[in-house]
Amino acid sequence: MTEQLAESEIDQLLDGLTGFVDDVALPLEAQHAQVLNDARLAYDERGAHSPQVRKLKAEVRRRAADAGYYQMFAPKSVGGGGLGSYALYRAWERLHHRYGPARVLPMAAIAHWAYGPGPLCARLTPQASEQMLAPFMRGEITACFGMSEPDAGSDAWAMRTKATRVGDEWIINGVKQWITNSPTADYIFVFAVTDEEQRKHRKSGVSCFVVPMTAPGVNVDSVIKLFGHIGGDEGIVSFNDVRVPASALVGQLHLGFNLALEGVSTGRIYNAGRCVGLARWALDKASAYSKQRVAFGKPIAEYQGVSFMLADSAVDIYAADAISRDCARRIDSGVRAVNVFARVRTLHADAWRHGFGERDQTIRWLASSAVRAHSGRQRGDHAPKHRQRHSQGIAGKQAPRGFTLRLLCATTACVAAIRRASCRRGMSRARQSRRCGRRAADRS
Ligand SMILES: Cc1cc2nc3c(=O)[nH]c(=O)nc-3n(C[C@H](O)[C@H](O)[C@H](O)COP(=O)(O)OP(=O)(O)OC[C@H]3O[C@@H](n4cnc5c(N)ncnc54)[C@H](O)[C@@H]3O)c2cc1C
Repeated sequence: MTEQLAESEIDQLLDGLTGFVDDVALPLEAQHAQVLNDARLAYDERGAHSPQVRKLKAEVRRRAADAGYYQMFAPKSVGGGGLGSYALYRAWERLHHRYGPARVLPMAAIAHWAYGPGPLCARLTPQASEQMLAPFMRGEITACFGMSEPDAGSDAWAMRTKATRVGDEWIINGVKQWITNSPTADYIFVFAVTDEEQRKHRKSGVSCFVVPMTAPGVNVDSVIKLFGHIGGDEGIVSFNDVRVPASALVGQLHLGFNLALEGVSTGRIYNAGRCVGLARWALDKASAYSKQRVAFGKPIAEYQGVSFMLADSAVDIYAADAISRDCARRIDSGVRAVNVFARVRTLHADAWRHGFGERDQTIRWLASSAVRAHSGRQRGDHAPKHRQRHSQGIAGKQAPRGFTLRLLCATTACVAAIRRASCRRGMSRARQSRRCGRRAADRS
Protein backbone atom coordinates (compact mmCIF):
# COMPACT_ATOMS: atom_id res chain seq x y z
CA MET A 1 0.00 0.00 0.00
CA THR A 2 1.58 3.29 -1.11
CA GLU A 3 0.80 6.65 0.42
CA GLN A 4 -1.40 8.43 -2.11
CA LEU A 5 -1.30 12.14 -2.77
CA ALA A 6 -4.48 14.07 -3.46
CA GLU A 7 -5.08 14.96 -7.11
CA SER A 8 -4.47 18.65 -6.37
CA GLU A 9 -1.14 17.84 -4.68
CA ILE A 10 -0.04 15.86 -7.73
CA ASP A 11 -1.08 18.72 -10.01
CA GLN A 12 0.99 21.12 -7.94
CA LEU A 13 3.96 18.77 -7.97
CA LEU A 14 3.75 18.39 -11.74
CA ASP A 15 3.46 22.13 -12.24
CA GLY A 16 6.69 22.39 -10.26
CA LEU A 17 8.27 19.65 -12.38
CA THR A 18 7.40 21.27 -15.69
CA GLY A 19 8.51 24.61 -14.27
CA PHE A 20 11.86 23.01 -13.51
CA VAL A 21 12.10 21.53 -17.02
CA ASP A 22 11.18 24.87 -18.60
CA ASP A 23 13.71 26.76 -16.48
CA VAL A 24 16.61 24.28 -16.54
CA ALA A 25 16.34 21.64 -19.27
CA LEU A 26 14.93 23.78 -22.09
CA PRO A 27 17.58 26.52 -21.90
CA LEU A 28 20.27 23.81 -21.89
CA GLU A 29 18.55 22.19 -24.86
CA ALA A 30 18.47 25.49 -26.74
CA GLN A 31 22.08 26.28 -25.86
CA HIS A 32 23.29 22.86 -27.09
CA ALA A 33 20.83 22.43 -29.94
CA GLN A 34 23.58 21.75 -32.42
CA VAL A 35 24.92 18.76 -30.48
CA LEU A 36 21.50 17.39 -29.60
CA ASN A 37 20.09 17.63 -33.10
CA ASP A 38 23.04 16.54 -35.18
CA ALA A 39 23.12 12.76 -34.99
CA ARG A 40 26.84 12.80 -35.81
CA LEU A 41 27.46 14.78 -32.62
CA ALA A 42 24.72 13.25 -30.46
CA TYR A 43 26.05 9.69 -30.83
CA ASP A 44 29.49 8.17 -30.57
CA GLU A 45 30.97 5.68 -33.02
CA ARG A 46 29.16 2.78 -31.28
CA GLY A 47 25.79 4.51 -31.62
CA ALA A 48 25.55 5.35 -27.89
CA HIS A 49 24.94 8.90 -26.66
CA SER A 50 28.11 10.95 -27.09
CA PRO A 51 30.04 12.27 -24.07
CA GLN A 52 28.56 15.76 -24.68
CA VAL A 53 24.99 14.47 -24.56
CA ARG A 54 25.77 12.30 -21.52
CA LYS A 55 27.16 15.35 -19.75
CA LEU A 56 24.03 17.38 -20.50
CA LYS A 57 21.76 14.58 -19.30
CA ALA A 58 23.83 14.26 -16.11
CA GLU A 59 23.53 17.98 -15.49
CA VAL A 60 19.72 17.85 -15.75
CA ARG A 61 19.64 14.77 -13.47
CA ARG A 62 21.85 16.38 -10.84
CA ARG A 63 19.90 19.62 -10.79
CA ALA A 64 16.59 17.73 -10.73
CA ALA A 65 17.90 15.66 -7.79
CA ASP A 66 18.85 18.87 -5.96
CA ALA A 67 15.33 20.15 -6.58
CA GLY A 68 13.86 16.84 -5.29
CA TYR A 69 12.21 15.71 -8.54
CA TYR A 70 14.66 13.14 -9.83
CA GLN A 71 14.37 10.73 -6.93
CA MET A 72 10.71 11.23 -6.10
CA PHE A 73 9.76 7.66 -7.07
CA ALA A 74 12.53 5.99 -5.04
CA PRO A 75 11.47 4.47 -1.70
CA LYS A 76 11.43 6.74 1.32
CA SER A 77 13.69 4.27 3.17
CA VAL A 78 16.59 5.25 0.89
CA GLY A 79 15.85 8.98 0.88
CA GLY A 80 13.45 9.09 -2.07
CA GLY A 81 10.00 10.68 -2.21
CA GLY A 82 8.20 7.32 -1.99
CA LEU A 83 5.60 8.36 -4.57
CA GLY A 84 3.68 5.50 -6.11
CA SER A 85 2.43 4.33 -9.47
CA TYR A 86 -0.33 6.89 -9.88
CA ALA A 87 2.01 9.85 -9.47
CA LEU A 88 4.52 8.09 -11.73
CA TYR A 89 1.89 7.64 -14.44
CA ARG A 90 0.79 11.27 -14.17
CA ALA A 91 4.37 12.57 -14.26
CA TRP A 92 5.40 10.68 -17.41
CA GLU A 93 2.09 11.48 -19.09
CA ARG A 94 2.59 15.18 -18.34
CA LEU A 95 6.17 15.27 -19.61
CA HIS A 96 5.39 13.46 -22.86
CA HIS A 97 2.24 15.45 -23.53
CA ARG A 98 4.01 18.76 -22.95
CA TYR A 99 7.36 18.09 -24.62
CA GLY A 100 6.55 15.44 -27.26
CA PRO A 101 8.72 12.64 -28.65
CA ALA A 102 12.52 12.35 -28.87
CA ARG A 103 13.30 15.05 -26.27
CA VAL A 104 16.34 13.86 -24.35
CA LEU A 105 16.87 16.54 -21.69
CA PRO A 106 13.29 17.15 -20.46
CA MET A 107 12.93 13.39 -19.86
CA ALA A 108 16.10 13.28 -17.74
CA ALA A 109 14.38 15.30 -14.99
CA ILE A 110 12.83 12.27 -13.31
CA ALA A 111 14.41 8.87 -12.71
CA HIS A 112 13.43 6.33 -15.33
CA TRP A 113 12.19 3.05 -13.79
CA ALA A 114 14.94 1.03 -15.49
CA TYR A 115 17.93 3.26 -14.95
CA GLY A 116 17.29 5.65 -12.13
CA PRO A 117 16.79 5.01 -8.42
CA GLY A 118 13.63 2.97 -7.80
CA PRO A 119 12.32 0.12 -5.66
CA LEU A 120 15.45 -2.04 -6.14
CA CYS A 121 17.46 0.50 -4.12
CA ALA A 122 15.66 -0.63 -0.99
CA ARG A 123 16.88 -4.19 -1.57
CA LEU A 124 20.61 -3.44 -1.77
CA THR A 125 22.96 -4.91 0.83
CA PRO A 126 24.63 -2.38 3.19
CA GLN A 127 27.90 -2.78 1.27
CA ALA A 128 26.31 -2.13 -2.12
CA SER A 129 24.33 0.80 -0.67
CA GLU A 130 27.53 2.26 0.70
CA GLN A 131 29.17 1.93 -2.69
CA MET A 132 26.52 3.26 -5.04
CA LEU A 133 23.39 4.62 -3.40
CA ALA A 134 24.39 8.22 -2.70
CA PRO A 135 25.67 9.04 -6.23
CA PHE A 136 22.76 7.09 -7.72
CA MET A 137 20.21 9.17 -5.79
CA ARG A 138 22.03 12.38 -6.73
CA GLY A 139 21.78 11.49 -10.42
CA GLU A 140 25.56 11.30 -10.80
CA ILE A 141 25.50 7.69 -11.93
CA THR A 142 22.88 5.53 -13.63
CA ALA A 143 22.06 1.83 -13.85
CA CYS A 144 20.22 -0.50 -16.20
CA PHE A 145 17.84 -3.41 -15.80
CA GLY A 146 19.13 -6.67 -17.28
CA MET A 147 16.40 -9.25 -17.60
CA SER A 148 15.71 -9.98 -21.30
CA GLU A 149 17.95 -12.28 -23.31
CA PRO A 150 18.17 -13.27 -26.97
CA ASP A 151 16.02 -16.37 -26.24
CA ALA A 152 14.11 -15.06 -23.24
CA GLY A 153 11.85 -12.08 -23.90
CA SER A 154 8.16 -12.50 -23.04
CA ASP A 155 9.15 -15.90 -21.69
CA ALA A 156 11.60 -14.46 -19.19
CA TRP A 157 11.75 -17.73 -17.20
CA ALA A 158 13.65 -19.17 -20.18
CA MET A 159 16.68 -17.07 -19.21
CA ARG A 160 20.04 -18.82 -19.39
CA THR A 161 22.34 -16.33 -17.70
CA LYS A 162 23.75 -18.17 -14.69
CA ALA A 163 25.35 -17.12 -11.44
CA THR A 164 27.41 -19.81 -9.71
CA ARG A 165 28.55 -19.51 -6.12
CA VAL A 166 32.29 -20.08 -5.66
CA GLY A 167 33.48 -19.36 -2.12
CA ASP A 168 32.49 -15.81 -1.19
CA GLU A 169 31.83 -14.82 -4.78
CA TRP A 170 29.32 -15.32 -7.56
CA ILE A 171 30.51 -15.95 -11.11
CA ILE A 172 28.10 -14.71 -13.77
CA ASN A 173 27.96 -15.93 -17.38
CA GLY A 174 25.41 -15.12 -20.07
CA VAL A 175 24.03 -12.54 -22.47
CA LYS A 176 21.36 -9.90 -21.93
CA GLN A 177 19.63 -8.12 -24.79
CA TRP A 178 17.57 -4.96 -25.26
CA ILE A 179 18.97 -3.46 -22.08
CA THR A 180 17.99 0.20 -21.98
CA ASN A 181 20.78 2.59 -20.94
CA SER A 182 23.35 -0.22 -20.89
CA PRO A 183 25.62 1.55 -23.39
CA THR A 184 26.14 4.41 -20.92
CA ALA A 185 25.19 2.96 -17.50
CA ASP A 186 27.51 2.65 -14.50
CA TYR A 187 25.79 -0.42 -12.99
CA ILE A 188 23.56 -3.22 -14.20
CA PHE A 189 20.90 -5.01 -12.15
CA VAL A 190 21.31 -8.40 -13.75
CA PHE A 191 18.92 -11.33 -13.30
CA ALA A 192 20.54 -14.76 -13.38
CA VAL A 193 19.63 -18.37 -12.64
CA THR A 194 21.03 -19.41 -9.26
CA ASP A 195 19.14 -22.70 -8.94
CA GLU A 196 18.38 -24.51 -12.18
CA GLU A 197 16.02 -27.06 -10.57
CA GLN A 198 13.89 -24.33 -9.01
CA ARG A 199 13.89 -22.31 -12.24
CA LYS A 200 12.48 -25.26 -14.17
CA HIS A 201 9.34 -25.03 -12.01
CA ARG A 202 9.11 -21.33 -12.87
CA LYS A 203 8.51 -20.16 -9.32
CA SER A 204 11.99 -19.31 -8.04
CA GLY A 205 15.66 -19.99 -8.71
CA VAL A 206 16.47 -16.61 -10.27
CA SER A 207 18.40 -13.94 -8.33
CA CYS A 208 19.30 -10.32 -8.94
CA PHE A 209 22.83 -8.91 -8.66
CA VAL A 210 24.10 -5.38 -9.00
CA VAL A 211 27.28 -5.29 -11.07
CA PRO A 212 29.51 -2.37 -12.12
CA MET A 213 29.57 -2.09 -15.91
CA THR A 214 33.34 -1.74 -15.59
CA ALA A 215 33.72 -5.14 -13.87
CA PRO A 216 36.13 -7.42 -15.79
CA GLY A 217 34.12 -9.67 -18.13
CA VAL A 218 31.17 -7.27 -18.60
CA ASN A 219 30.94 -6.03 -22.15
CA VAL A 220 28.41 -4.04 -24.18
CA ASP A 221 28.71 -6.06 -27.38
CA SER A 222 26.59 -3.70 -29.44
CA VAL A 223 24.15 -0.82 -29.33
CA ILE A 224 20.78 -1.68 -30.81
CA LYS A 225 19.48 0.89 -33.27
CA LEU A 226 15.72 1.18 -33.58
CA PHE A 227 14.10 1.75 -36.99
CA GLY A 228 15.23 4.98 -38.56
CA HIS A 229 17.77 5.83 -35.86
CA ILE A 230 21.50 5.88 -36.19
CA GLY A 231 22.05 5.56 -32.45
CA GLY A 232 20.22 4.06 -29.52
CA ASP A 233 19.84 3.51 -25.81
CA GLU A 234 19.47 -0.28 -25.83
CA GLY A 235 22.39 -2.65 -25.84
CA ILE A 236 23.45 -6.29 -25.84
CA VAL A 237 25.49 -7.01 -22.72
CA SER A 238 27.60 -10.11 -22.24
CA PHE A 239 28.97 -11.56 -19.01
CA ASN A 240 32.05 -13.75 -19.23
CA ASP A 241 33.15 -15.16 -15.87
CA VAL A 242 32.19 -11.93 -14.12
CA ARG A 243 33.09 -12.21 -10.43
CA VAL A 244 31.02 -10.30 -7.91
CA PRO A 245 31.06 -10.44 -4.10
CA ALA A 246 28.17 -11.99 -2.15
CA SER A 247 27.19 -8.43 -1.22
CA ALA A 248 26.18 -7.83 -4.85
CA LEU A 249 23.00 -9.86 -4.30
CA VAL A 250 19.88 -7.67 -4.47
CA GLY A 251 16.93 -8.87 -2.39
CA GLN A 252 16.60 -12.53 -1.46
CA LEU A 253 18.51 -15.37 -3.04
CA HIS A 254 16.46 -17.28 -5.66
CA LEU A 255 13.55 -14.80 -5.35
CA GLY A 256 14.82 -12.29 -7.89
CA PHE A 257 12.06 -12.97 -10.39
CA ASN A 258 9.55 -11.21 -8.14
CA LEU A 259 11.82 -8.17 -8.14
CA ALA A 260 12.03 -8.36 -11.91
CA LEU A 261 8.24 -8.37 -12.19
CA GLU A 262 8.01 -5.35 -9.91
CA GLY A 263 10.37 -3.55 -12.27
CA VAL A 264 8.45 -4.67 -15.33
CA SER A 265 5.17 -3.49 -13.77
CA THR A 266 6.63 -0.06 -13.09
CA GLY A 267 7.86 -0.07 -16.67
CA ARG A 268 4.33 -0.69 -17.89
CA ILE A 269 2.96 2.21 -15.88
CA TYR A 270 5.77 4.37 -17.27
CA ASN A 271 4.96 3.25 -20.81
CA ALA A 272 1.23 3.82 -20.29
CA GLY A 273 2.03 7.42 -19.25
CA ARG A 274 4.32 7.85 -22.20
CA CYS A 275 1.77 6.36 -24.55
CA VAL A 276 -1.13 8.57 -23.44
CA GLY A 277 1.08 11.67 -23.24
CA LEU A 278 2.43 11.21 -26.75
CA ALA A 279 -1.03 10.45 -28.11
CA ARG A 280 -2.28 13.73 -26.59
CA TRP A 281 0.69 15.58 -28.01
CA ALA A 282 -0.05 14.14 -31.46
CA LEU A 283 -3.75 14.95 -31.20
CA ASP A 284 -3.03 18.55 -30.14
CA LYS A 285 -0.79 18.98 -33.18
CA ALA A 286 -3.34 17.43 -35.52
CA SER A 287 -6.27 19.46 -34.11
CA ALA A 288 -4.39 22.73 -34.33
CA TYR A 289 -3.28 22.01 -37.87
CA SER A 290 -6.68 20.92 -39.07
CA LYS A 291 -8.27 24.13 -37.80
CA GLN A 292 -5.69 26.16 -39.62
CA ARG A 293 -5.23 24.31 -42.91
CA VAL A 294 -7.68 25.34 -45.58
CA ALA A 295 -8.55 23.05 -48.48
CA PHE A 296 -11.36 23.59 -51.00
CA GLY A 297 -12.30 26.82 -49.22
CA LYS A 298 -12.72 25.49 -45.66
CA PRO A 299 -10.45 24.51 -42.74
CA ILE A 300 -10.03 20.74 -43.05
CA ALA A 301 -11.41 20.33 -39.47
CA GLU A 302 -14.80 21.11 -40.97
CA TYR A 303 -14.68 18.00 -43.14
CA GLN A 304 -16.09 15.00 -41.32
CA GLY A 305 -13.44 12.71 -42.80
CA VAL A 306 -10.94 14.61 -40.68
CA SER A 307 -13.02 15.63 -37.67
CA PHE A 308 -14.41 12.11 -37.06
CA MET A 309 -10.87 10.76 -37.07
CA LEU A 310 -9.79 13.32 -34.47
CA ALA A 311 -12.92 12.81 -32.37
CA ASP A 312 -12.36 9.03 -32.36
CA SER A 313 -8.78 9.63 -31.26
CA ALA A 314 -9.89 11.90 -28.43
CA VAL A 315 -12.31 9.22 -27.19
CA ASP A 316 -9.65 6.52 -27.33
CA ILE A 317 -7.13 8.70 -25.50
CA TYR A 318 -9.71 9.40 -22.80
CA ALA A 319 -10.33 5.66 -22.41
CA ALA A 320 -6.61 4.85 -22.34
CA ASP A 321 -6.02 7.55 -19.72
CA ALA A 322 -8.93 6.39 -17.54
CA ILE A 323 -7.82 2.76 -17.69
CA SER A 324 -4.20 3.61 -16.95
CA ARG A 325 -5.11 5.83 -13.97
CA ASP A 326 -7.33 3.07 -12.62
CA CYS A 327 -4.52 0.50 -12.96
CA ALA A 328 -2.02 2.77 -11.26
CA ARG A 329 -4.39 3.53 -8.37
CA ARG A 330 -5.07 -0.16 -7.85
CA ILE A 331 -1.36 -0.93 -7.76
CA ASP A 332 -0.91 1.79 -5.13
CA SER A 333 -3.65 0.18 -3.06
CA GLY A 334 -1.78 -3.11 -3.09
CA VAL A 335 -3.53 -5.01 -5.89
CA ARG A 336 -1.22 -7.40 -7.73
CA ALA A 337 0.03 -5.81 -10.94
CA VAL A 338 -0.36 -8.93 -13.08
CA ASN A 339 -4.13 -8.82 -12.66
CA VAL A 340 -4.68 -5.10 -12.95
CA PHE A 341 -2.71 -4.87 -16.16
CA ALA A 342 -5.44 -6.88 -17.78
CA ARG A 343 -7.31 -3.56 -17.86
CA VAL A 344 -4.63 -2.00 -19.97
CA ARG A 345 -5.03 -4.94 -22.30
CA THR A 346 -8.63 -3.93 -22.96
CA LEU A 347 -7.22 -1.13 -25.06
CA HIS A 348 -6.40 -3.82 -27.57
CA ALA A 349 -9.85 -5.29 -27.28
CA ASP A 350 -11.28 -1.88 -28.16
CA ALA A 351 -9.01 -1.74 -31.14
CA TRP A 352 -10.34 -5.11 -32.28
CA ARG A 353 -13.89 -3.97 -31.86
CA HIS A 354 -13.30 -0.82 -33.86
CA GLY A 355 -11.82 -3.04 -36.54
CA PHE A 356 -8.50 -1.30 -36.67
CA GLY A 357 -6.79 -4.53 -37.65
CA GLU A 358 -4.10 -5.93 -35.39
CA ARG A 359 -4.75 -6.29 -31.71
CA ASP A 360 -2.56 -3.46 -30.46
CA GLN A 361 -3.60 -0.77 -32.86
CA THR A 362 -5.12 1.79 -30.52
CA ILE A 363 -2.10 3.96 -30.05
CA ARG A 364 -0.81 3.36 -33.53
CA TRP A 365 -4.25 4.43 -34.73
CA LEU A 366 -4.07 7.60 -32.67
CA ALA A 367 -0.67 8.39 -34.09
CA SER A 368 -1.66 7.59 -37.62
CA SER A 369 -4.80 9.72 -37.31
CA ALA A 370 -2.64 12.64 -36.25
CA VAL A 371 -0.23 11.96 -39.07
CA ARG A 372 -3.01 11.64 -41.63
CA ALA A 373 -4.53 14.94 -40.54
CA HIS A 374 -1.15 16.53 -41.29
CA SER A 375 -1.07 14.96 -44.75
CA GLY A 376 1.97 16.31 -46.69
CA ARG A 377 3.17 18.15 -43.55
CA GLN A 378 3.39 14.84 -41.73
CA ARG A 379 7.02 14.65 -42.68
CA GLY A 380 7.80 17.73 -40.57
CA ASP A 381 10.22 17.38 -37.69
CA HIS A 382 9.13 18.39 -34.18
CA ALA A 383 12.66 18.47 -32.76
CA PRO A 384 13.76 21.72 -31.10
CA LYS A 385 16.09 22.56 -33.94
CA HIS A 386 13.14 22.51 -36.26
CA ARG A 387 10.52 23.83 -33.90
CA GLN A 388 10.27 27.14 -35.59
CA ARG A 389 10.51 25.61 -39.00
CA HIS A 390 7.90 23.08 -37.99
CA SER A 391 5.38 25.72 -37.02
CA GLN A 392 6.09 27.35 -40.35
CA GLY A 393 5.60 23.95 -41.89
CA ILE A 394 2.27 23.69 -40.19
CA ALA A 395 1.40 27.10 -41.54
CA GLY A 396 1.97 25.63 -44.96
CA LYS A 397 5.44 26.89 -45.79
CA GLN A 398 7.78 23.99 -45.19
CA ALA A 399 7.75 20.27 -44.72
CA PRO A 400 10.94 19.25 -42.88
CA ARG A 401 11.64 15.58 -42.62
CA GLY A 402 11.21 12.92 -39.99
CA PHE A 403 7.91 13.65 -38.27
CA THR A 404 6.07 10.48 -39.24
CA LEU A 405 8.93 8.19 -38.46
CA ARG A 406 9.70 9.72 -35.07
CA LEU A 407 6.06 9.78 -34.07
CA LEU A 408 5.56 6.18 -35.06
CA CYS A 409 8.83 5.07 -33.43
CA ALA A 410 7.85 6.75 -30.18
CA THR A 411 4.41 5.24 -30.15
CA THR A 412 5.64 1.81 -31.21
CA ALA A 413 7.58 1.54 -27.97
CA CYS A 414 4.37 2.23 -26.06
CA VAL A 415 2.50 -0.31 -28.11
CA ALA A 416 5.20 -2.86 -27.28
CA ALA A 417 4.64 -2.28 -23.56
CA ILE A 418 0.93 -2.81 -23.88
CA ARG A 419 1.59 -5.87 -26.00
CA ARG A 420 3.77 -7.29 -23.22
CA ALA A 421 0.95 -6.67 -20.75
CA SER A 422 -1.31 -8.61 -23.06
CA CYS A 423 1.01 -11.62 -23.02
CA ARG A 424 1.00 -11.66 -19.24
CA ARG A 425 -2.73 -11.35 -19.25
CA GLY A 426 -2.97 -14.39 -21.47
CA MET A 427 -0.76 -16.24 -19.04
CA SER A 428 -2.55 -14.99 -15.92
CA ARG A 429 -5.87 -16.00 -17.45
CA ALA A 430 -4.57 -19.46 -18.15
CA ARG A 431 -3.32 -19.72 -14.55
CA GLN A 432 -6.59 -18.36 -13.23
CA SER A 433 -8.67 -20.86 -15.16
CA ARG A 434 -6.39 -23.66 -13.93
CA ARG A 435 -6.93 -22.42 -10.36
CA CYS A 436 -10.71 -22.14 -10.91
CA GLY A 437 -10.67 -25.64 -12.35
CA ARG A 438 -8.86 -26.91 -9.25
CA ARG A 439 -11.31 -25.12 -6.93
CA ALA A 440 -14.28 -26.60 -8.80
CA ALA A 441 -12.68 -30.05 -8.59
CA ASP A 442 -12.12 -29.57 -4.82
CA ARG A 443 -15.75 -28.59 -4.33
CA SER A 444 -17.04 -31.62 -6.19
C1 LIG B 1 12.91 -0.35 -26.74
C2 LIG B 1 13.02 -1.54 -25.84
C3 LIG B 1 13.60 -1.40 -24.59
C4 LIG B 1 13.73 -2.51 -23.76
N1 LIG B 1 14.34 -2.37 -22.54
C5 LIG B 1 14.56 -3.44 -21.78
C6 LIG B 1 15.31 -3.33 -20.55
O1 LIG B 1 15.73 -2.24 -20.16
N2 LIG B 1 15.53 -4.45 -19.84
C7 LIG B 1 15.08 -5.68 -20.23
O2 LIG B 1 15.34 -6.64 -19.53
N3 LIG B 1 14.38 -5.82 -21.39
C8 LIG B 1 14.11 -4.75 -22.16
N4 LIG B 1 13.41 -4.88 -23.34
C9 LIG B 1 13.00 -6.20 -23.77
C10 LIG B 1 11.52 -6.41 -23.66
O3 LIG B 1 11.17 -6.62 -22.33
C11 LIG B 1 11.20 -7.61 -24.58
O4 LIG B 1 11.30 -7.10 -25.90
C12 LIG B 1 9.85 -8.17 -24.32
O5 LIG B 1 9.87 -8.88 -23.12
C13 LIG B 1 9.40 -9.08 -25.47
O6 LIG B 1 10.41 -10.02 -25.74
P1 LIG B 1 10.89 -10.29 -27.24
O7 LIG B 1 11.21 -8.99 -27.88
O8 LIG B 1 11.96 -11.33 -27.17
O9 LIG B 1 9.63 -10.87 -27.99
P2 LIG B 1 9.14 -12.39 -27.98
O10 LIG B 1 8.95 -12.86 -26.60
O11 LIG B 1 9.99 -13.17 -28.89
O12 LIG B 1 7.72 -12.20 -28.67
C14 LIG B 1 7.57 -12.08 -30.09
C15 LIG B 1 6.09 -11.92 -30.39
O13 LIG B 1 5.39 -13.08 -29.94
C16 LIG B 1 4.33 -12.71 -29.07
N5 LIG B 1 4.19 -13.72 -28.01
C17 LIG B 1 5.16 -14.20 -27.19
N6 LIG B 1 4.65 -15.09 -26.33
C18 LIG B 1 3.32 -15.17 -26.60
C19 LIG B 1 2.23 -15.92 -26.04
N7 LIG B 1 2.41 -16.77 -25.02
N8 LIG B 1 1.01 -15.74 -26.57
C20 LIG B 1 0.81 -14.89 -27.60
N9 LIG B 1 1.79 -14.16 -28.18
C21 LIG B 1 3.02 -14.29 -27.69
C22 LIG B 1 4.75 -11.37 -28.50
O14 LIG B 1 3.62 -10.61 -28.10
C23 LIG B 1 5.46 -10.73 -29.67
O15 LIG B 1 4.54 -10.13 -30.53
C24 LIG B 1 13.23 -3.78 -24.18
C25 LIG B 1 12.64 -3.91 -25.43
C26 LIG B 1 12.52 -2.82 -26.26
C27 LIG B 1 11.89 -2.99 -27.61
